[in-house]
Amino acid sequence: MKKFDNLKLCLKNSKDHKTIIEVGNVKIGSGFTMIAGPCSVESEEQTYQTALPLKKAGIDILRGGVFKARTSPYDFQGLGVEGLKILKRVGEELDIPVVTEVLDTRDVEITSAHVDILQIGSRNMQNFALLKEVGLQDKPVLLKRGMSATLEEWLNCAEYILERGNPNVILCERGIRTFDTYTRNTIDMAVVPSIKILTHLPVFIDPSHGTGSPDLIEPMSLSAVGAGADGLMIEVHYKPEEALSDRDQAIDPLVYTGIINKVRKMSDFIKTELV
Ligand code: PEP
Ligand code: MN
Repeated sequence: MKKFDNLKLCLKNSKDHKTIIEVGNVKIGSGFTMIAGPCSVESEEQTYQTALPLKKAGIDILRGGVFKARTSPYDFQGLGVEGLKILKRVGEELDIPVVTEVLDTRDVEITSAHVDILQIGSRNMQNFALLKEVGLQDKPVLLKRGMSATLEEWLNCAEYILERGNPNVILCERGIRTFDTYTRNTIDMAVVPSIKILTHLPVFIDPSHGTGSPDLIEPMSLSAVGAGADGLMIEVHYKPEEALSDRDQAIDPLVYTGIINKVRKMSDFIKTELV
């Protein structure tokens, strides 16, 4: 197995070395963290109506994209700064931390002022200017794996953020491109224990982009718990059929509640009975 000796900051320096990231009352890397919310913030009503049942279901962090990296320039591009304000208001109203993706170095400062965690999306994993910029912020960074990035390339991107002085990086596997197109992407579940063996950083699975299919979200969520992930990021919309982005993979809050309950049971079982 490769050792990635060129990495200095993200590798473990002892077996128990572990980064725990505190966001409000949430301790990422200690316990199992559930992030959920719509692919995009579309309006205050849609964000609130989605977030309220999620809060009741016991999520830890609310997600919602406001700067959207869409394949087509004709698709919904997100509400931008107006979306940031909505996300912040809903987060404050429900007393829940929020995460959103930042696409452009010019938006890092304003995004940082509105959210608790900055997300770097798959398409920007190797946007080094952006990595350096978020590395200067005092907010944790959720770094998604590029869709054709090797583990070594991905960890080097985490290293860019750490090297700039930001110690709080969360890795998120969201599926990679393989020869099989049945699922939207292919979740590399073995990357979870690999990251745990090599690094001290928390690792999440995103089964929504990872599979592109509502029916596959629960089984892959439970697999992520079994693989030792620190959390999940799942896309939920209060009216999935009306979602302006990633409609086909969106689940509703009721389906999500079933999933979170099973995930919590499984992670408690592992913690108390299997360790
Ligand atoms: C997202 O989480 O909204 C997103 C765009 O995901 P990814 O960067 O993994 O495609
Ligand atoms: Mn999405």
